[in-house]
Amino acid sequence: MSATADVLKPDFTGKPQHFIFTEEHDRLRESIGAFVEKELAPHAEEWEETTFPDSVIQRMGELGFLGLSMPEKYGGQGGDYYCNLVLAEEMAKSHSGGLAMGVAVHTDMAMPPIHLFGSEEQKQEWLVPAIKGEKILCLGITEPDAGSDVAGLKTRAVRDGDEFVINGSKTYITNGHRADVIALVTKTDPDAGYDGFTLFLVPMDAPGVIREKRLEKLGMHASDTALLAFQDVRVPASAMLGEEGKGFYHIMWELQGERLIGAAGCVAGAQGAFDQTLAYARERTAFGRQIGKFQVIRHKFAEMATQIESARQMVYTTAWRFHNGEYPVREISMAKLHAARVAVDVADECIQIHGGAGYMKEYGIERVWRDMRLNRIGAGTDEIMLEVIGRSYGL
Ligand SMILES: Cc1cc2nc3c(=O)[nH]c(=O)nc-3n(C[C@H](O)[C@H](O)[C@H](O)COP(=O)(O)OP(=O)(O)OC[C@H]3O[C@@H](n4cnc5c(N)ncnc54)[C@H](O)[C@@H]3O)c2cc1C
Repeated sequence: MSATADVLKPDFTGKPQHFIFTEEHDRLRESIGAFVEKELAPHAEEWEETTFPDSVIQRMGELGFLGLSMPEKYGGQGGDYYCNLVLAEEMAKSHSGGLAMGVAVHTDMAMPPIHLFGSEEQKQEWLVPAIKGEKILCLGITEPDAGSDVAGLKTRAVRDGDEFVINGSKTYITNGHRADVIALVTKTDPDAGYDGFTLFLVPMDAPGVIREKRLEKLGMHASDTALLAFQDVRVPASAMLGEEGKGFYHIMWELQGERLIGAAGCVAGAQGAFDQTLAYARERTAFGRQIGKFQVIRHKFAEMATQIESARQMVYTTAWRFHNGEYPVREISMAKLHAARVAVDVADECIQIHGGAGYMKEYGIERVWRDMRLNRIGAGTDEIMLEVIGRSYGL
């Protein structure tokens, strides 16, 4: 701080900075943000009805946005983990939670395990075209009878010579209708507990893969959600992703990156709703004054801003630790839990501040609430996050 004036007059208009981001991240943010506002946001309404077209993934591949932190030798940009945070934050400007989720499943759920655990052959077959946007990925953990209770999954993969035969079902699978391949969690040894799981990369056009049903949802309408069946699906042993018997640990690793990215999306979604509602509160008048000038409304903004900022700081600080080689599972769980709750609470308050308009589709605020509500369930529920955090203290 240099001039006396700086300490006399606080600046509330300056662009927020954070030490994890460099000028390169700022440029990336500008470029993704401009693309999202120009090419995606105008279609938000339409894609609520139709789901977003696959051409979005192709276009993002052409622009180099799908492999931001992937190595250049696979067609990625060779950036760091923070680039993925930037993508998640900027995707919120599409005003389409479903679209942001569909893209995140491709880039931050299914892609990282292929990169980390995949063989060179698998990377050439799936990672390279996925980064180009020519192949779409999905991830299958949840089943009709087991979601939080991953140990209770039943989909079986049984060895038969040089092949595995897969039987079972998966549900709530994002991108399940459009995907070319699924990173599938199976049980190869039902008696081995956590050491009995194995991942496979299963082409979605393999005989026996059935896309049973397009599931209807409360929100995230721009994404497609599938119920899938696997009936005697044969894959070669080379389709195994990572080590046999290590699937549970592989997927737990994957979930950490995914949760943090989800948390960043929640913060950005909450910020977007806040900004839109602030503009509304400045325009809308009641009893002869702007509604934002009522103390009760002003305090709602103060509470929301404080909550959003606390979640943002948790996400960035935890991302910094993750980026620097730590594996901060407790703090990732805290960030995921807190950011999801903040997003839902903020969206709810924003509806309230809009009054009747908040309940109308036209303003898009009710959609933020419906979309954000998923975050307290998907990728690990609030209750499971509390379990992870509580147990980390030896309780
Ligand atoms: C729109 C959408 C998209 C999704 N996309 C995908 C995807 O792409 N891939 C995928 O694999 N999955 C996906 N999911 C699944 C999601 O991750 C699961 O729904 C979630 O993990 C919860 O599992 P469940 O639905 O089986 O709930 P359950 O596990 O049946 O939980 C029901 C309730 O019991 C509570 N509960 C369960 N166990 C405990 C416990 N030990 N202690 C305290 N409370 C507990 C839960 O917190 C919850 O409140 C998606 C879900 C939705 C809704």
